[in-house]
Amino acid sequence: MKIWPLKDDRKRAVPRSGPGSFWEDRVDRRHCGVDLYAPCGTVVLALEKGVVTRVGIATSPRKNRYWNTTRYVVVRHGTVFVKYAELGRVDVRKGENVAPGREIGEVGLVLNKNKIDSHSPLYIRKLGGRNPSMLHLEFFREKPITRHRLYLGGNWFGAKKPEGLLDPTPILSKLKRKKSAPRRKRGKGPVSGDLRMRASGGR
Ligand SMILES: [Zn+2]
Repeated sequence: MKIWPLKDDRKRAVPRSGPGSFWEDRVDRRHCGVDLYAPCGTVVLALEKGVVTRVGIATSPRKNRYWNTTRYVVVRHGTVFVKYAELGRVDVRKGENVAPGREIGEVGLVLNKNKIDSHSPLYIRKLGGRNPSMLHLEFFREKPITRHRLYLGGNWFGAKKPEGLLDPTPILSKLKRKKSAPRRKRGKGPVSGDLRMRASGGR
């Protein structure tokens, strides 16, 4: 994996515990992925080259009244399947080959604030006030889970981790430290210019 999956994301925050972290305990369910918080409409990029194996509905108000409709894309990156979920828009099709950094879609908004009530799960009621938008990322060793009786909207209703589900945190943390600035020709452009300025203007 080499590309940070959110375009123009300066913070690159990877939640390691608490809301949005991998396998977060949500009382009756566990979080299957990592949530990267980003404004609605943020462009989502392919982590690596791969092939789109699936496109589908991630959340829908028909399943949960406090949900908006969002989509997911599964890309096979070598031996790892990555589910990019909670997208408001999808820009790729099943079977398509994607290059690293290819635009996959846009971050959507899952929660419908007006439909959150006292019957909604506690973690949803807590999030509801802020109504954050995010990219929900799931990593799988083999086949990704998209439909299962214990799986709903990125959560797993059981304490035992499903087979093949991976923790994306180490990979994302590594990417976070990687610079993503596009390569420029030597001796030209603002990158070397900036360096020169800093070198001559130092104390
Ligand atoms: Zn999530």
